[in-house]
Amino acid sequence: MDASYKFIDHAYDVLVVGAGGAGLRATFGMAVSGLSTACITKVFPTRSHTVAAQGGMSASLGNMGEDDWRWHMYDTVKGSDWLGDQDAIEYMCREAVPAIVELEHYGVPFSRTDEGKIYQRPFGGMTTRYGEGIAQRTCAAADRTGHAILHTLYQQSLKHNAEFFIEYFAIDLLMDDEGVCRGVVAIDLATGELHRFRAHQVLLATGGYGRTYFSCTSAHTCTGDGNAMILRAGMPLQDMEFVQFHPTGIYGSGCLITEGARGEGGYLTNSQGERFMERYAPNAKDLASRDVVSRSMTMEINDGRGVGDEGDHIHLHLEHLGADVINERLPGIAESARIFAGVDVTKEPIPVLPTVHYNMGGIPTNHFGQVVNLVNGDPDTIMPGLMAIGEAACVSVHGANRLGSNSLLDLIVFGRAAAMRAAELVKPDTPHPALSERATDKVMDRFDALRHSNGSTPTAELRLNLQKTMQTHAAVFRTGESLSTGLEKVKALYDQFDDVKVTDKSMIWNTDLIETLELSNLFPQAVATVASALNRPESRGAHARDDHKERDDESWMKHTLVTVSGKGEVSIDYRPVHMTTLSDEVEVFPPKARVY
Ligand SMILES: Cc1cc2nc3c(=O)[nH]c(=O)nc-3n(C[C@H](O)[C@H](O)[C@H](O)COP(=O)(O)OP(=O)(O)OC[C@H]3O[C@@H](n4cnc5c(N)ncnc54)[C@H](O)[C@@H]3O)c2cc1C
Repeated sequence: MDASYKFIDHAYDVLVVGAGGAGLRATFGMAVSGLSTACITKVFPTRSHTVAAQGGMSASLGNMGEDDWRWHMYDTVKGSDWLGDQDAIEYMCREAVPAIVELEHYGVPFSRTDEGKIYQRPFGGMTTRYGEGIAQRTCAAADRTGHAILHTLYQQSLKHNAEFFIEYFAIDLLMDDEGVCRGVVAIDLATGELHRFRAHQVLLATGGYGRTYFSCTSAHTCTGDGNAMILRAGMPLQDMEFVQFHPTGIYGSGCLITEGARGEGGYLTNSQGERFMERYAPNAKDLASRDVVSRSMTMEINDGRGVGDEGDHIHLHLEHLGADVINERLPGIAESARIFAGVDVTKEPIPVLPTVHYNMGGIPTNHFGQVVNLVNGDPDTIMPGLMAIGEAACVSVHGANRLGSNSLLDLIVFGRAAAMRAAELVKPDTPHPALSERATDKVMDRFDALRHSNGSTPTAELRLNLQKTMQTHAAVFRTGESLSTGLEKVKALYDQFDDVKVTDKSMIWNTDLIETLELSNLFPQAVATVASALNRPESRGAHARDDHKERDDESWMKHTLVTVSGKGEVSIDYRPVHMTTLSDEVEVFPPKARVY
């Protein structure tokens, strides 16, 4: 390692990487419990992607009609296409109710019913009585729910003396010789100074990796940095083949139109003006699960019934709702449609297209937020010192397909659970064991090599090629052929990464360097996604194989565990889905056909 690198050292009881909804809920919870807590984040906390969450957060409060957490659990199991772990789903749906009431008490300004209760709207796949009726379960602060949650949790974290390191980029985990995580190394973007953080629990809340794709609704910062750290440490990621396409990204820009727009009564039409969802999902229609709606739209377009000059998109109608409902419930949508599609939603439909939106896969954890691995045949072996929550994690509550409004819930419930677990595991002010220099050297050797990359290919060019390859080869519909070509192309691009050029060698506000570090994180995740998809010859949830159209529970009701080493050497293993419950208040939901 270049001996000139100097470090500013810090020691905390616990360290959170990421200040989205997940990271902030955990930071706040840990700080409240008396642990010295640091949170590092590459963007200002309230600019994390969670700020863009529009539609809301599910919880069976029953404020606007009958509801029960067991119905929510059933919907989530069905939505996951029976790949979700039922114990974790039970935990999430049951804990949703206290978790949201707490949020309200912390100060989240939810929209209200006439009686002053939290307003709840219908959302895709959310039903009553095990699929019989449509539930109103999604708690919303107009169409700016994520924004409201982030501001509240950031304020609460500050109030309880959590320490924030803002615009610090975590480069990698500090792993000791026994494979235990002891902290992270980060760079302060503004000064270029390097910081070494020690902690007894490092919690990764770094969000999803939507930016492996060309068209996605997620922020440019969604590069799955925490996921890549796990792969570099030799640990697996879980279920990476399951990438959710949201039915309604604005055509051209990818900007999201919330499912809440259909929850409020919006509907889709094809070039013949037909409400085609009535054919594909006779009961739930436009509010069927996201994978179902995205596939139906793609089939309409492929069958020549798309709208527009190229016949390559679909119309979403809100005109009939009237200006009052739109202004009160969907003001942000009206603004996005005006800015990104030039459309006045009170007068004309919005052009939309399925767009990459969410990563069901990620870092495998138990329902306390602790990272697990498959070691010596035990799929639930806990990796000491490491936790993961939020979109970075795979608990797994979303299985093969996440239901809308279940992610904000996942952030809050498991952020809260991880904080409670950390408070049990860590005694405040416990001294940190000595750590050999090798741990830091390993991180800095890689950093130093990337920083001095002196090839001929610009980072932006390689990234664009990767994103376009993923968009073409790992899309709404996949085949063995498209995936194996895709895997070859992604690996070839990964090889080309040796030829990347970082123009500016400075450490201060060097966005070229940071984007190169991010690209180095995107590559192994892209490989993991395509290789896992190629290895799963069935269709389940968001993973729709044109050459294997049926779900195959006998052989494939299991989680994928994928590791990626070197330049894309993949190894794949599987672990069973948890078909157990935590309490005797509910029984396991056995697999059945998934129709809406
Ligand atoms: C447009 C949009 C709308 C959505 N709407 C809804 C909705 O209505 N309901 C719902 O349930 N879900 C919704 N989702 C999904 C949900 O919002 C996300 O899954 C969720 O917000 C992810 O939260 P997170 O805390 O895991 O990560 P993020 O909010 O993405 O935050 C990640 C954090 O990690 C930090 N970070 C990352 N890498 C590093 C690094 N190397 N060093 C330091 N810090 C780092 C970032 O700075 C950031 O603070 C939506 C998603 C999108 C994209």
